[in-house]
Amino acid sequence: MIRSSVMPGYLLAVLLLTALTQVGGLVLLSGLPLMHLIRATSVWQQRLWRGLAFLLVYLLSAIAIVPALAQLGGRVPLPCVANKASPLQPANFGYCLLMRNYVTPETHAHLLRIAQQFRQAHPDSTVRYLDANFPFWNGFPLLPHLSHKDGRKVDLAFFYQRKDTQTPVDFSPAWLGYWFYEQPPSHKEATCQDKQSWLRWDFAWLQPRYAAYEIDATRTRSLLQLLANDAQKILLEPHLQARLGVQATNLKFQGCRAARHDDHIHAQW
Ligand SMILES: [Zn+2]
Repeated sequence: MIRSSVMPGYLLAVLLLTALTQVGGLVLLSGLPLMHLIRATSVWQQRLWRGLAFLLVYLLSAIAIVPALAQLGGRVPLPCVANKASPLQPANFGYCLLMRNYVTPETHAHLLRIAQQFRQAHPDSTVRYLDANFPFWNGFPLLPHLSHKDGRKVDLAFFYQRKDTQTPVDFSPAWLGYWFYEQPPSHKEATCQDKQSWLRWDFAWLQPRYAAYEIDATRTRSLLQLLANDAQKILLEPHLQARLGVQATNLKFQGCRAARHDDHIHAQW
């Protein structure tokens, strides 16, 4: 029996896990009877053991149960670790742990082919994805990306190099791959300068952390060209389209009242 005083805590955890991982809230609810079999002498010990039991059930679900069920509904996970055959991986392993790496089999095939073509041109580099989609249910958005709800949308990280030596690096300086914004070369090219929107985050305080790095135009252009030849639609800020010198009818600007695309590429099929 769960005491009514702990119910708001569980409710909050279920809501948070659902928003973050889609099925984590359900995993918590179904694991509650098991967790409440665990008794310990102190409250903190009991919470620790119950928390570990939840983590175990969650990991088991994420690794074994969810991928099998998602496949029945037409979604498959993108690779979590790159290898020779699948040179594609998340910018942060958390995207896999939170089950935010699901796509349709068609999108999986498109992206894998692009990653393989990219690896042929740049043998030491790996295409890195960010948020994709959740495992189930067309129409369930992966917040904060409202359009990532049909298994056909994937965000991809830029490539970077060290600013002082122009040495390419094979990782994203930003922890999540997002929020390291490429500024336009002049104020005139800042398309959304006077059009503020709560969806267009700034995080100016975060930018000095990445001062040692800059976008690697050569490899990012290479990825963008492969996407332009394959994807149905790509989103990127206009000043980056101009700087990278890629023009295509499927390469578009998302507008000022949407999440900005000067820290990643959005692609859809
Ligand atoms: Zn996106």
